[in-house]
Amino acid sequence: MPSFPGGIHPDDCKGQTRDRKIEKIPLPDKLIIPLSQHIGNPAKCKVKVGETVLKGQVIGDADGFVSLPVHASSSGEVTAVENSPHPQGKRSPAIVIKTDGRDQAVKEFGLQRNWEQLSVHELIQFVKEAGIAGLGGAAFPAHVKLSPPPEKKIDLLLINGAECEPFLTADHRLMLEQSEEILQGIRILLTILGLENCLIGIEENKRECYEALVSGIRIKGLSGIKPVLLPVKYPQGSESQLIYSLTGREVPSGGLPLDIGIVVQNVGTAAALFHGVARNIPLISRVVTVTGAAVRKPGNYLVPLGTQISRLLEFCEADLGRTGKVICGGPLMGISQPTLDAPVIKGTCGILLQGSNFSADTEWGNCIRCGRCIRSCPTLLLPVTIAALSRKDRFTECREYGLLDCKECGCCSFVCPAKIPLTHYIKLAKYHLLKEQHQQNKSGA
Ligand code: SF4
Ligand code: SF4
Repeated sequence: MPSFPGGIHPDDCKGQTRDRKIEKIPLPDKLIIPLSQHIGNPAKCKVKVGETVLKGQVIGDADGFVSLPVHASSSGEVTAVENSPHPQGKRSPAIVIKTDGRDQAVKEFGLQRNWEQLSVHELIQFVKEAGIAGLGGAAFPAHVKLSPPPEKKIDLLLINGAECEPFLTADHRLMLEQSEEILQGIRILLTILGLENCLIGIEENKRECYEALVSGIRIKGLSGIKPVLLPVKYPQGSESQLIYSLTGREVPSGGLPLDIGIVVQNVGTAAALFHGVARNIPLISRVVTVTGAAVRKPGNYLVPLGTQISRLLEFCEADLGRTGKVICGGPLMGISQPTLDAPVIKGTCGILLQGSNFSADTEWGNCIRCGRCIRSCPTLLLPVTIAALSRKDRFTECREYGLLDCKECGCCSFVCPAKIPLTHYIKLAKYHLLKEQHQQNKSGA
């Protein structure tokens, strides 16, 4: 089996939570539901302060094709529609709900649908209405990936069960505990795409997940769905790298998987899609790994979307006095949180608490020209050069060195012996270029 170039082998650090069954957390008394929890246009608020809402009710409408609705995760009263902390960093518009403890749902919530009798158009519509975004972290609206332009011929579905970031085990538990839902979700995906074949990529450190899926396929007599074990190597779960590992195909620079006939979805997305389409349960909760040395009750928790990180950490008995950094996501691609008031959203796969030794910004040294960052880059870029140009504000030149192909995987920063925050400078250059592009578009240039 081919393996993508570069990559790193950090300790997987999954032992703290991999055997912890998914546990439901108690309903919080307050939910903060951002209108933007996906790539694309934020949803349009459709409720007012003082209004009573029910679990599963649409409280924000999708605004255009690349957008998703948002739903109330529980019943209660809307107490504010305001700019609130967001786990992506800046504040953004959100609907605040004071829950009433009844957890009362809309009447059609949980109604079973015989999805096999639905047309492809209806299936895609239900995927959108259920607010399904990619749960692997990128939060791309699922219905958009499932509606490729007619000139793009799709011949293969890949399911991402790699979960390659250290510490995270939410997908691991989902594959063990909800293998049937995942397989049903894959059948829905195959039907929508008009395909017969699907490969599920799983890293070797999750062999029991592979076995659970193989056994589910055998028991249900499914054909065309094949789990595949992959070597443990970060970033195996990045779309381009997963595609290369499973098929040997390469996504072209600046291109997308659909340019080479492939659609990729995460295992969690497949399960959510089954619940949304066949059970009429929109995406109002997700599994989140909470882990780190300062967490007394580490585990994998089913969390209502909108639950503040502070409440989740309280439930997990986190010792914030021994915590330097709280990261939303994994240690390599996650985002350090300036406030714990931000809520869990569709893309929140984990909350990682790093010890107090991580609180101070590490000093970095001079580049010793060792070339490790170059050898680790799965996209074959020159991280040292791009970061150096970015530090000198020479952002346009960064683009000439392939800046926009950077996956922001963090491998280069991880291996750098001088501790230079290469990925940070690369992200900064991207931010400036995209801002420039946005301004040009606005001025019609
Ligand atoms: S962050 Fe970007 S430049 Fe650094 S290793 Fe990953 S893809 Fe390469
Ligand atoms: S890994 Fe760090 S020290 Fe080595 S070449 Fe890259 S930037 Fe320089």
